[in-house]
Amino acid sequence: MDKFGILKKYFGYDTFRNAQENLIDHILEGKDTVGIMPTGAGKSLCYQIPALLMNGITLVISPLISLMKDQVGSLNQAGIHAAFLNSSLTVNQYYKALNFARQGRYPIIYVAPERLVTEEFLDFAINSKISMVAVDEAHCVSQWGQDFRPSYLKIVEFIKKLPKRPVVSAFTATATKEVRDDIIDILQLENPMVMTTGFDRSNLYFGVVAGKDRYGAIKNYLETHQKDSGIIYCLTRKQVEEICGRLIKDGFLVTRYHAGLSDEERRKNQDDFIYDRVPLIVCTSAFGMGIDKSNVRFVLHYGMPKNIESYYQEAGRAGRDGEPAECILYYSSKDVITNQLLIDNNQDNQDFDAATRLIIKERDQERLRKMTFYCFTNECLRDYILKYFGEYGSNYCGNCSNCFTQFEKTDVTEIAKALVGCVESSRQRYGTTVIIDTVHGANTAKIKSYRMDGNPYYGTLRQMPVYRIRQVLNHLRLNGYLFVTEDDYGIVKLTEQSGHVMKEDSQIIMKLAKESSKQGKKGQDKGKTSKKDSFQEGTFTEKEESLFEKLRALRLEIAREEKVPPYIVFSDKTLTHMCLVKPKTKEEMMTVSGVGQFKFEKYGDRFLACISSFSLGNG
Ligand code: ADP
Ligand code: MG
Ligand code: ZN
Repeated sequence: MDKFGILKKYFGYDTFRNAQENLIDHILEGKDTVGIMPTGAGKSLCYQIPALLMNGITLVISPLISLMKDQVGSLNQAGIHAAFLNSSLTVNQYYKALNFARQGRYPIIYVAPERLVTEEFLDFAINSKISMVAVDEAHCVSQWGQDFRPSYLKIVEFIKKLPKRPVVSAFTATATKEVRDDIIDILQLENPMVMTTGFDRSNLYFGVVAGKDRYGAIKNYLETHQKDSGIIYCLTRKQVEEICGRLIKDGFLVTRYHAGLSDEERRKNQDDFIYDRVPLIVCTSAFGMGIDKSNVRFVLHYGMPKNIESYYQEAGRAGRDGEPAECILYYSSKDVITNQLLIDNNQDNQDFDAATRLIIKERDQERLRKMTFYCFTNECLRDYILKYFGEYGSNYCGNCSNCFTQFEKTDVTEIAKALVGCVESSRQRYGTTVIIDTVHGANTAKIKSYRMDGNPYYGTLRQMPVYRIRQVLNHLRLNGYLFVTEDDYGIVKLTEQSGHVMKEDSQIIMKLAKESSKQGKKGQDKGKTSKKDSFQEGTFTEKEESLFEKLRALRLEIAREEKVPPYIVFSDKTLTHMCLVKPKTKEEMMTVSGVGQFKFEKYGDRFLACISSFSLGNG
């Protein structure tokens, strides 16, 4: 069988995605290979398929027990013998697995890095034919990344002890150059072929919702997305407790996750979520590494994360199956202060000297600024993210809250001049609120005590709504015409560019939402994710919606029998496709994306029966 045969037979797919085929071919030619692809792109297949075609055993190095369990579960469900060796096994189970491995029962073995150079494991490896070492989540070798794992450094030591050097492949979703160079250097890859695919995740909808009642907005969203699986990220443990508590009170089935909980509770809550026993999880950024759950339909952020890297990683946990999914950030200006405090009190860098700490802090502040601008920008959100990672998008994606909003170009020169003029004439001593209140002509004690009511710009924008003045101020910051200090005072300062604004013939144009549609299309109003989006051949009728629910229930039943997460039985994408095809025969069922031979033999008849009884019931 060739790679296409394996793709169809075991995984049930007809075609490879972007870079998969290329990466697989290189590995099969015996060359070291690095695959840098975003979450959900399908990195696993890139080493699993060659593993089945090569003569010998492939060892997959993975940082987390939960990841290994998930992947081995998936492979076994697809009819491929695979095992994992890590500390979750008892001594007995470990020796048993190792014995089967010696007998050549497993073409693919997942190993925790710290096991590699233990005596028993080495003994097995040296006496077996190891054809490939595949390093998953390879950024864990790099101290530059966020997930550095010292045990990953043992991989090279291990490879050197083998009688014959296997092919080494490495995979990650982290795109920075430092990390990529580290992977190549530290793993000592030999003339590797490095393939990077674009970072765009076109099935993800991005939205920003600003407003006071964030809880209400999220609740609304959840009410229109019942039964779908989703994650709600919060900035702090306290917020997790609060939001989770309120949601429970409001009748939602929800669990929680943060580093302050006991190991046992964390494990249980995580499993409840993964196994679809509870559709929602409220958590801090501690949740997620090692979650391969493919049917997460939305990721909401109650609060803005500290940088775009974190945001994209967390949001990216939505829609791994390639089906439409939504990522919405609920922003409040308080988030900036919370994040600033987190940066100021960051204890992670104690080992560095003062000068280095300062550099790190400045870097963190710069990243926070870019994150904040994401919440203000009126440009395409996807484009903003891709640009941040050094890629160029199309300026208009048609699938983000900004692209959905109708904007019109508005001349805001007058407002800009008043703001810059006010900052200048008050000698750059005040924060944003004082500046805005001044130009708006507020009659507060503070304004009087600062004597800002005597400022030449006092009240010049009395007719303008405050939110508009604030928008323009943010626009001026975003474009470097003004600058706000990062300390507790948040003082508005001039920049080298401020002078441009004050020139007589200057013109400041800004894209602003059209007033009429302003309420219309921000984030949560976009409506329910339509399952039809990814398959053009048909539309999802109401009947099909209810067939989908039937199939989803059957999937849950089977998952319980098999003790695996439902998405490992069939992905949401596969169920969606099934609803559209409505197969009546084995041949028809086998055309559904994600139905391989082994899975068909195991469950095909039950799904066929479900569809046929549904069709009968519906004439
Ligand atoms: P990554 O490790 O890159 O985040 P995974 O390997 O976990 O992604 O794959 C994500 C999802 O994409 C899985 O559900 C997988 O079955 C699916 N997938 C991978 N390759 C293909 C393909 N060629 N066609 C359809 N689905 C695929
Ligand atoms: Mg992966
Ligand atoms: Zn867009």
